[in-house]
Amino acid sequence: MSDSTPVFNDRNTGKSKLINPTLVLNCGSSSIKYALISEDESTRITGLAENLGLDTARIKHTTLNGEKLEITIPGGRHELALQKILALLEQYHFVAVGHRVVHGGREYSKAVRVDQHVLDEVKRLKILAPLHNPANALGIEAVEAIYPDIPQVVVFDTAFHQTMPPVAYRYPIPKALYEEEKIRRYGFHGTSHAYVSERASEITDAKGPHGWLTAHLGNGCSATAVYNGESLDTSMGLTPLEGLMMGTRSGDVDPSLHIHLKRKLGMSLEEIDTMLNSESGLLGISGLSNDLRTIEQAANEGHKDAQLAIEMFCYRVGKYLASLSCALPDFTGIVFTGGIGENSATTRARILDVMRHFGIKFNAEKNDDLVGGAEGSFQDEGSSIELWVIPTDEECQIAKETCQALGLK
Ligand code: ADP
Repeated sequence: MSDSTPVFNDRNTGKSKLINPTLVLNCGSSSIKYALISEDESTRITGLAENLGLDTARIKHTTLNGEKLEITIPGGRHELALQKILALLEQYHFVAVGHRVVHGGREYSKAVRVDQHVLDEVKRLKILAPLHNPANALGIEAVEAIYPDIPQVVVFDTAFHQTMPPVAYRYPIPKALYEEEKIRRYGFHGTSHAYVSERASEITDAKGPHGWLTAHLGNGCSATAVYNGESLDTSMGLTPLEGLMMGTRSGDVDPSLHIHLKRKLGMSLEEIDTMLNSESGLLGISGLSNDLRTIEQAANEGHKDAQLAIEMFCYRVGKYLASLSCALPDFTGIVFTGGIGENSATTRARILDVMRHFGIKFNAEKNDDLVGGAEGSFQDEGSSIELWVIPTDEECQIAKETCQALGLK
């Protein structure tokens, strides 16, 4: 890589773009999402390698001038996919790489530059995130092998929640399990909760004490109480299964469900784990899909299970937000984000209806308009709190934290 500051000209507009870009990598067990983001965050190239591990593995890439490419990955290996992604992006001379890493345990409360110790820790923490951390580590090693001189940073999904006090992060179980086995609540989606809460404080110019409840409602769902920029409590726990009802995950159930299902149906722990993670939530109740759009359409056509799935989803979000509000010394407002939070006005309205005792008033027209990536508030005059829709931007947050960790910003 050259030391000079590269400036690239877009073929159509001639405007300079992608100055000192950061490469953001999200290496999962069967996919790799990537984004190349310019220093001023105004321009990006994005892409996705999917079906990894299968013969159908391919990269879907959009070039700077909007051209769509599809590249096959024979054999579907992660390393080969990463080599091809890096080859596609090499011409843009990225200056740093930021990796989304799911679990940072209790060791990491912010993004850190990768060295051998950090890489070993990411691998060791696989005990807490068996599906994710090994894939994240693979991404770090693949970049290191090709570009040993480019600094890499890991941005942990759990780090933002390390400010939670013990009253929020401990489970009421024997303390040896915490002290010796690190069994505690960690929380996830930290990058998204950090981004939208910071953005809400920025837009509202909140100078005094301010507390937001951030509701990240996508395929995975979680809610967080953020006070003056710090997470004080969140709905996900030791694993991302705790908390809200999600696309295919159950969220909270009676912990004795496991022993009951074992005794009654002879199910193994692995079978119960798969059922709660992959066959429950919106999918399990509707019997149709984990996609809210499909369920909303069926509900409108009178499908009773689809109607119940939506009602349960909203009731559980509302109930959780109400309880999380107890963590906030001041309750400024609620921020909705994620695919559902950003797009389904009816879901937002139903959730707020569950919280009707809070003196919340919202403007139905403004709520309806806030879809498809729009950002804005929709509380009505006299509302006890503010209501915001803020599209999340985890890539941008990871790029920002990567530059901060390297002292580039
Ligand atoms: P992930 O957690 O995988 O990143 P997303 O944040 O993209 O997921 O959210 C996916 C969810 O958002 C799906 O349930 C999908 O149905 C829902 N969603 C996306 N667009 C809409 C829409 N226009 N109306 C209702 N739900 C939507």
